[in-house]
Amino acid sequence: MSYIDKIFSNRKKILVTGGAGFIGSALIRKLLKYSSLIILNIDKLSYASDLFSINKLLDDKNIAKRYKFLKIDLYNFKEIRKALFDFEPDLVFHLAAESHVDKSILDPSIFIKSNIVGTFNLLQSSLEFYETLSDIKKKFFRFHHISTDEVFGSIEDDKLFHEKSSYDPRSPYSASKASSDHLVRAWSHTYDLPVILTNCSNNFGPWQFPEKLIPKAITNALRGTKIPLYGDGLNVRDWLYVDDHVEALLLSANKGTIGESYCIGNNNEKTNKEVLFEICNILDELKPAKGSYFNLIKEVKDRPGHDRRYAINPQKIQNQLNWIPKYNFRHGLEKTIKWYIDNHSWWESKK
Ligand code: NAD
Repeated sequence: MSYIDKIFSNRKKILVTGGAGFIGSALIRKLLKYSSLIILNIDKLSYASDLFSINKLLDDKNIAKRYKFLKIDLYNFKEIRKALFDFEPDLVFHLAAESHVDKSILDPSIFIKSNIVGTFNLLQSSLEFYETLSDIKKKFFRFHHISTDEVFGSIEDDKLFHEKSSYDPRSPYSASKASSDHLVRAWSHTYDLPVILTNCSNNFGPWQFPEKLIPKAITNALRGTKIPLYGDGLNVRDWLYVDDHVEALLLSANKGTIGESYCIGNNNEKTNKEVLFEICNILDELKPAKGSYFNLIKEVKDRPGHDRRYAINPQKIQNQLNWIPKYNFRHGLEKTIKWYIDNHSWWESKK
């Protein structure tokens, strides 16, 4: 029995929403490769989605028979409710969301539909399903909502976000995620739906759509085009390698206390400038070009309302659930850059 099967013990059927996205697909790959769990992946398949990384595992018949994908938009209550009742999950990992802050500034409406109404539809369907369960099934059912540290707004230099930090979202994206967190807590408090919430810092790793800071910088550098640096480049984020996030999700969904939230971060605070410098450094070593990659970095106009600093205190999940991240920033970044170097055709197809 694998360590994942042991953690999940009485939970066998797992519904993942947003499983064609960056973090959701990393979670599903892990579950398919290292457990015997049965997975239903629900995703609307947006521009940011990619099923290739999962589909290439399905040549293995033992994996293929444990996996199903349904193309559903969570905005469609009827479809999501039917899928949930047909599948009868023991646990729901809710990752589906529109996730790019810049896009939320240009067109917020889709963020309201997917992140707020979509979460409501999934919560309400899950509650209706939960109420049909036997007492023993109810005991093990969990709804795990995956959220972000951006809901807490920007924080001063000497402070860290923690589970009791007050909400202060400042972009349409973070406001929509904050709304969904509030809905999830309300469904727990009012209707006793057994929920777990996690708020994680910025992720990076393979298969991330090249619109986000790190993959955009790597792919632009590999093309020899400008690497954009917002404003003065001094905005700080706490970076976490995606596999460490996945391990934190497996633990918190199964071992977390019902109704509680866990902040996930790695004390890897970096300014955007430091991130780009580190990327150029590694690329200069791994794939030397005519000139240094540093010459490609160009300051561009800052994002409106750009939060200055996010930083997490991860003590609760570390102490209570014994979560230990494996990757420091440099190690995770090297792995990520090597992956983008080796998977040129994938990211070239995402232009
Ligand atoms: P992503 O954009 O790569 O993937 C999101 C997936 O959700 C996409 O495949 C998309 O098609 C799907 N989706 C969006 N709206 C949907 C809808 N209405 N119905 C069905 N599917 C829908 O995002 P990601 O980086 O993998 O993030 C996953 C989750 O983790 C999000 O909820 C995000 O808020 C959260 N999160 C992300 C980070 C990060 O740094 N990427 C950090 C903390 C938390």
